[in-house]
Parts: sequence; C-alpha cells; structure tokens
Amino acid sequence: MTSSIIRGKYVITRALGRHTAQIIENGAILQRGGRIEEISDFVALAAKYPNLPVIGTGNHVVMPGFVNGHHHVGLTPVQLGSPDMPLELWFATRMVTREVDPYLDTLYSAFEMIASGVTTVQHIHGWVPGDLPKIEHAANEVIRGYEAIGMRVSYCYALRDQNHLVYGPNDAFTASVPDDIKPALQRHFGRFQLGAADLVQLFEQLRKTHHGKSRVRLQLAPANLHWCSDAALELLAETSARHDVPMHMHLLETPYQKEYAKRRGGGTAVDYLAKFGLLNSRLTLGHGVWLSEGDIECLAGNGVHVCHNCSSNFRLRSGIAPLNRLEEKGVNVAIGIDEAGINDDRDMLQEMRMVLRAHRTPGMGDDVPGMGQVLRMATAGGALTTPYGSEIGTLTPGMAADLVMINWSQISFPYLDEETPVLDAVLQRAKTQGVNTVMVEGEILYQDGKFTRIDQSAMLHELAGRLRRPLNAEELERRNLAHLILPHVRAFYKDYFNPADHVPHYRQSSRF
Ligand SMILES: [Zn+2]
Repeated sequence: MTSSIIRGKYVITRALGRHTAQIIENGAILQRGGRIEEISDFVALAAKYPNLPVIGTGNHVVMPGFVNGHHHVGLTPVQLGSPDMPLELWFATRMVTREVDPYLDTLYSAFEMIASGVTTVQHIHGWVPGDLPKIEHAANEVIRGYEAIGMRVSYCYALRDQNHLVYGPNDAFTASVPDDIKPALQRHFGRFQLGAADLVQLFEQLRKTHHGKSRVRLQLAPANLHWCSDAALELLAETSARHDVPMHMHLLETPYQKEYAKRRGGGTAVDYLAKFGLLNSRLTLGHGVWLSEGDIECLAGNGVHVCHNCSSNFRLRSGIAPLNRLEEKGVNVAIGIDEAGINDDRDMLQEMRMVLRAHRTPGMGDDVPGMGQVLRMATAGGALTTPYGSEIGTLTPGMAADLVMINWSQISFPYLDEETPVLDAVLQRAKTQGVNTVMVEGEILYQDGKFTRIDQSAMLHELAGRLRRPLNAEELERRNLAHLILPHVRAFYKDYFNPADHVPHYRQSSRF
C-alpha cells in the first residue's frame, strides 16, 4: 500500500466534547500503508515529505469516515413492495421480499453509504432461507460485495430460533389462522432452519475464512429477545466471551417488545438479558426506544452500548429513543441507518441531522444533542460497537486512514459568516453532492462521483436485469401469504399491552 498526504482546509480530527471538535486549519495527514503517522500543518508536512503525492487541493473538510452502526439490506423494503407500517405488522409485509442476489444487493447500498462518507458498516444479515451451507454462501457473498468495493465491514448473521412472525410460538400462531392459510404459513416457517448451534458453527467458519483480513471482521447477533430462546442466549453469551467478540441485538424497539419481555420474564428486557451475563461492553442494543430509567442506569453501569436508529424509529412508528438520557448517563451511542433513512436511502449526513434534530426538547438546558456529540456518535462511538473498536473513528496517529473529504465550497458558497463554527456548518450543511473523496486504509474508494474499484452503472444495470424476471412460485406464494396473514397478525396484537403501562419517555418528561 502506498503513502500519501491528505490536505484539508479544515481537518476535523475528532470530537472533543458535546459541542466541539479538534480542527486543524490548513492541515494535512500523512498516511503510510493505511495508517495515520502524522498530522500537522500542510506546508510543514509537504516540505518534510516532498516526494509524497498530495490528495486534495486545500478546499476540503477532511473528517473521520462514518460508521453506519446498524445495516441490513441493499434494496429497501419500499423498493421491494413492503410499505412502512408499525413494526409488528411490517414483519408480515416484509414477506413479500424478493430473492435478490446478495452480492449485487450489498453493492447497491454500499454505493449509497460510501457516497455519504460511510467507511465502516455493521452489517446485520438475516432471513436467508435454507440450511447452514446456503446461509454460509449468502454470508460470503455479502462480504465479497464489501471486499469488492473496498469498504470496511463488521459482519454478523442474526439468530432467530423462535417466534419468527409474531411474539409467540410459530405452532400456536399457525393453529390460530384459517385452515386455507396454514400450509403456506408452515412452508414459510419451514424456510428458516438455523439453530443456535448452527449459528455458532457459521460464525466460527466465517472467522476462519476471513481470518487476518484488515477490512472484514465478524461478530455475533442475537436478533432480538423474542427471536431467541434461553438456550440461544446462553450459547451466544458464552461464544461472545470465549472469542471476545462484540454482539449486536435489537431490543425494546416498540412498546409491544417491552410488554413481551414483561410477559416472558416478569421484568424488563434488560433485566432478562442480565440473567445470561449479556450486559457488558461487548453488547450493543439496537434501537432501545423503550428503555426504562432503571434500564438506562444498568446499561451505563455495565458499559453496554446503544445504536440509535432514528429514521427507522420514525418510519415504523416505534417511538423516539431516550437519547438525551443515554447521553446524560454516559452510555456510548452509535448511529444506525437500519433498512433505510428518512429519504429511503443510506445517507449518513442526513441521518446525523435527524439525530441532531429529533431530540430538541423545549427549554434552554444543555441536554439536547450537540454537534460534537453527533460527530462522536457517527465516528468513534459507532466504532466502539464493532470489532474495530478504537482502531478507527478518529484521525489521530496510529489510527486507520479511513476518512471523507467534503467540498468546503458546497458548505460555504456563496456566503458563510466567519463566526459560524466549522463543525456546525459541516453537520448542518454538508450534502452527498459535496462528498468528494472517501478513503479506507489510505486507499481512495470514491472520488469525483466515481467508485474506483467497481463500475457502478454496470452493477446497477446487472441488478435491474436480474429483477426483470417474473416472480417465481415461492415468491408469489409469499406475496399472497403476506396479504392474507396481515389481519391475523393485527388480531394477535389487539389489546397486547395497556398504554398506561408503557408511557413513552417523551410523555414522562421533557428529556427525550
Ligand atoms: Zn435492524
């Protein structure tokens, strides 16, 4: 790998506090072999290393590459015919999903992520039908997509060993639906055969296959409390400890999930995880919208991370996460775009603004998200929820040279008051069209609207061509089943919880 000097009008190296970042004006970064060696004034660095190529003209903001802390798929549910609905109903409408080539699907969203400055993704894969070899093949195809484009990935396959459609056993739910729907529903449940022991085998096999790769790492994912049996939770807790690898788990996304935990264990979902020794700094909880005050204290005390999926929570009517309380208590929080952001794409700059704006409670206290906080969440905070830990997320010597360069003129032209802080201007005004260069490990993956390793247009045409084929028999059956099953899923959740028992944070106090 080569060496280079990356030059910026402003080099934002890292968040310093909730409101500020360290910024070097007319700065530059020296990277060798993908690692940052020095950061200083551009003129001094260029004089010291006159033979090194210089990337950038001095008209860019250089900042750490972003970490999308929670990602699943390429083509979005809307693109695949599944409309936004309350989460528990949406699980049923998601059945319409088509069989999309995992390699091309991965590239599709990687194009969007990279073009918005994302250099690392937490890919939480799932719902692959079939047995272990089929799932392992699909997993490797997803990873091959990231390797082809050059992006850094933390990959996990989400384990679901029970309750595949509603928050109750598959058999009992099947028994509750009309006889003419039963065979198709049974065939649907029969597609998902992966058990907890298989999952551990998959994880260990993938770890061997991708051992020693600097841009591919593996971790574990119990999909959510309702999807995992006690035996599965026990096995994954033990596997995470044995390999010292992180875990990412959806939790408390909706009040229905809060109620489910109460029915299963008598306490909160966090109380339930504690029984299995899962509450430690290896665990990240995706969503966490319905955490109680006690849960938040418990996460803070045990170093558990949260991944905030702001757009997704709005789109699927999950609620507003207690981000301000999490921040106040010192819980590390990442940002995840989940299936897709508010514009049905994977735009991290937009998602950062969602996080910045969604928690601005009325009042004058310093308890709403700050610019430094949002930068930290999208970079170093996200990194801590992946196996890359503190190797990425800031631009400091010793760290990986993963960075994004944004045109300052896109942010500041035709006018920007000189007293507007640079960080504030970047977070509020930078758009994807201003993203000029994206680099991972010192390698340019994207520049001037073009991907350096992959022909984006050819890949998109290939994807479009493959999806021009008519739906196959199984896809048609699932599409039909999704429509037929919806009223029964709705009926399952009728009066599932008493709203008085589950008052959202933003109604309890002004601190959401
Ligand atoms: Zn998710």
